[in-house]
Amino acid sequence: MNVTRGEDDRPGLLVDRFGRVVRSLRLSVTDRCNLRCQYCMPEGEIPWFPKERILTFEEIERVARHLALLGVAEIRLTGGEPLLRRDLPVLVRLLSRIEGIEDLAVTTNGLLLEEMAGPLLRAGVRRFNVHIDSLDPASFAALSRRNGLPRVLAGLSELERLGAIPVKINVVLVRGVNDDQIERFVDLALRRPYQVRFIELMPLGGGEPFEMDRLVPGREVKRRIESMKPLLPIGRDRPSAPANVYRLADGLGDIGFINPVTEPFCGDCDRIRLTADGKIRNCLFARAETDIAALLRDGSPDESISAALRAAVAAKGAGGCLDLHQFYRDRLPRKMWQIGG
Ligand code: SAM
Ligand code: SF4
Repeated sequence: MNVTRGEDDRPGLLVDRFGRVVRSLRLSVTDRCNLRCQYCMPEGEIPWFPKERILTFEEIERVARHLALLGVAEIRLTGGEPLLRRDLPVLVRLLSRIEGIEDLAVTTNGLLLEEMAGPLLRAGVRRFNVHIDSLDPASFAALSRRNGLPRVLAGLSELERLGAIPVKINVVLVRGVNDDQIERFVDLALRRPYQVRFIELMPLGGGEPFEMDRLVPGREVKRRIESMKPLLPIGRDRPSAPANVYRLADGLGDIGFINPVTEPFCGDCDRIRLTADGKIRNCLFARAETDIAALLRDGSPDESISAALRAAVAAKGAGGCLDLHQFYRDRLPRKMWQIGG
C-alpha cells in the first residue's frame, strides 16, 4: 500500500463533532471462542462469521496503517477469543512495525496464554488483560460453560514469569452467580501484582437475557471491598481509561472499577472498533457501522478508506447510547463476541 506519513501530508487527527480525538483501536481478530460465557454467548449453535468474511492480516494492516496516520497510537486485540486466531504473532509483528503505533495490548480469556504469552510478547505485545470471572473451578465452569480455570491461572503465572506485569484482570460480576467471588479477587490482588477490575454487566450479550437486577453496581462492589480493606484512590491510568483505580492497602495489586452502566464515561471515549468481519464501529453500542471490508475488497483507493474512517468518526454520537429501555425494545443485532468488548 502507498500510505506514508510525510512531513506535510499528514491528513490530521480523527476528531468527532464533540472534540473527542480517536487514539485507540479495538481490533477484533475473530468471533470464535473456546468459552461460552453465559452473559456473552448463547449455549447452542452459534452463527459464526463465514471464514471468507474474516479480514486477512493484510487487510487488517491496511486499515491499521490508515488509522495510525490519522493519529491512532494504541491497538488492543480482542475477539471472540483473539488467541484462537491462527498465527496471531505474525499479525502482531505486522502491527508493531506500523509507524505511530506505540502500544499493542491483548484482551484474552487466558486459556491459551501459557503457550502464547512468550510468542506474543516477542512479537510486540506489551500488555495483557485477562478475563476471569471466578477463582472457584466449579463456578468458573458454570459461568463460562467450560472447564479451564487451571489453564488460565497457569497463563497468569507465565505472564509473571516473563515479567509481563502488572497484569490486568477483568471480572464481570453477575448477581447470584459469581458475586461471592469479590473477596477472593481482593485476596488475589493482595498477594499478586495484578490490577483486578470489576466490570459492570452490559446488555450486549447473546446468551442469558440481560436483567438489571443481575448487574452488581461498581459502587456496591467498592463498598464491600472497603468493609474489608481501605482503598486509596489513584484515579485513571489516563483520562480516557475506563477504569477508576484504587490502591489496595497492604497489597501488591490494585483494584479498578469499570462502570459503563451506572457511570458512563462516553465524554472521554477515544476508541474506534474494527470487527473481525471488517466493520468499523464508532461506539460499542452503535446501531450503525461502516463496511470497510467492502472498500478493502472492491479496489477502493486509500483516499476512500481514509474518508470512510473520517465519516465513521464524524457520525459518532455524544454518548449515552446505553439506553437500557431502547435495548430491551430492539436488542442489537451484533453481540459482544461479534464486536470485541
Ligand atoms: N474473549 C476475550 C475475553 O473474554 O477477554 C476477549 C473478548 S470479550 C468480548 C472482552 C471482554 O468483554 C471480557 O472482559 C468480557 O468479560 C467482557 N464482556 C463480554 N460480554 C459482556 C457483557 N455482556 N457485559 C460486560 N462485559 C462483557
Ligand atoms: Fe468468549 Fe470472551 Fe465472550 Fe467469554 S466473554 S464467551 S471468553 S468472547
